[in-house]
Amino acid sequence: MKFGGTSVGTTLALTQLLSITLQERERWTRLLLVVSALEGVTDALIEAAYNAQMGNQRSYRRLVANLRMRHMALIEHIPLGQNERSALQGNVDSLLYEMLDACQRLAENPGESRQVALDSIIGVGEKLAARIVAALLRQNGLRSVAMDATDLIITDKVYGNATPNMELTRARIGAQLIPMMDRAIIPVVTGFIGSTTTGEPTTLGRGGSDYTASTLALCADADEVWIWSDVDGLMSADPREMPSATQIEHLTYDEAADLAYFGVRLLHSRMIEPLRMGQIPLQIRNIYRPQQAGTMVGSSRTNLISGVHAVTSIQALGFQAAQRGPLSLLAARVNETFLSKTGSQAEVMLTSQSSNQSFVCFVVPTSAGIDVTHMLQNAVLEDFRNYPQLAQWTIQPVSVITAVGYEMASIAEMSNVLAVLRAIPVLALTQHLSGSSISVVVEQTYAHGALAQLHELIVQKRVM
Ligand code: ASP
Ligand code: MG
Repeated sequence: MKFGGTSVGTTLALTQLLSITLQERERWTRLLLVVSALEGVTDALIEAAYNAQMGNQRSYRRLVANLRMRHMALIEHIPLGQNERSALQGNVDSLLYEMLDACQRLAENPGESRQVALDSIIGVGEKLAARIVAALLRQNGLRSVAMDATDLIITDKVYGNATPNMELTRARIGAQLIPMMDRAIIPVVTGFIGSTTTGEPTTLGRGGSDYTASTLALCADADEVWIWSDVDGLMSADPREMPSATQIEHLTYDEAADLAYFGVRLLHSRMIEPLRMGQIPLQIRNIYRPQQAGTMVGSSRTNLISGVHAVTSIQALGFQAAQRGPLSLLAARVNETFLSKTGSQAEVMLTSQSSNQSFVCFVVPTSAGIDVTHMLQNAVLEDFRNYPQLAQWTIQPVSVITAVGYEMASIAEMSNVLAVLRAIPVLALTQHLSGSSISVVVEQTYAHGALAQLHELIVQKRVM
């Protein structure tokens, strides 16, 4: 079971976590928890690391002091015995002290092993949360140990967005976690973090605790993965934008993977793959309504209904030119700008070239926050001034609207999608390899309309 930032951030949430764990303990012989940092903590850590690189000592010290206060206040408010409490306070202090030290070193040598330093700083939130949760479980009669995934999840060296090596990780899990679980101990593992084969700390990308959970599940041959958060499950659209959105009961792995990739922030974009590999079903559930079924992903369902099940919208930058030619310089420059402004790489969503036209679309990472497209557009334009070869490209903020469903690659579904969008100028259209989704690129002013039209396909089906 994975508990996200909103499920560990308050005493109320922790009470739910505890009662859910006590109950599930009775039903399963082996139980493993993965926890994220308390809500907002990773953002604060990223800010601290950024300030350290800039040499703003006062700012990062203030941020660390606030983090300390927040964790100490939580520890103060949960029912713990005196020994557990003071041990925990000591843990928080030493972890934050180490992290402050890393900030100081980064401030003094901003260039030197910067990536490693960043990942060690931003991963501390999960270590704090795991210790708090394990103490709470112990206090309530469960045998539980906080485990840092730096010893368990072995990754490549893509700092900030690492991918686990399943074989090496499986060996660690077999040696360290399985024997523990067999002694009825519930390990509470830090989400989000891992380390390279040489022991350098890495992180799995924002929202990476989901990926930790699915990686551990695959490597421990889990029967099921449950992701707990503060919403009922995945929705047919973002309910803030589409009030008629409803909860989705069931999705295939392909559908869930496409949804995660194309903008549903509830799931990490690469977390589905390990589950598909192990054929492990996933449930997404609400800690405040644990009796509710939530959304099921993957396990066999009998009523596979073709057609659209969910729609998403993400922001992107579209580049158009009346030319054909190599796109490598364009891609390299855009990527560089995105990386320096948002901390995440730009992903090419689709390119199309005809004899006299090119269109390339770069998705703005959802983790970069909303309303960043104009800022990025200006930054890219600014950068392009240094490259006269790129002068022909016009740039506009666009939206990528994706319809995810079953058998979306069929001609029938494709024409359904095009038919409902007939009044909307579509700049580009693509079908994804999974066969579970179709994306269209539209100017941002048409985004809501396109989303609403496509969502209507779902609503109509519901009525039928
Ligand atoms: N705490 C990390 C983040 O905020 C990982 C996670 O929440 O899954 O991105
Ligand atoms: Mg998340």
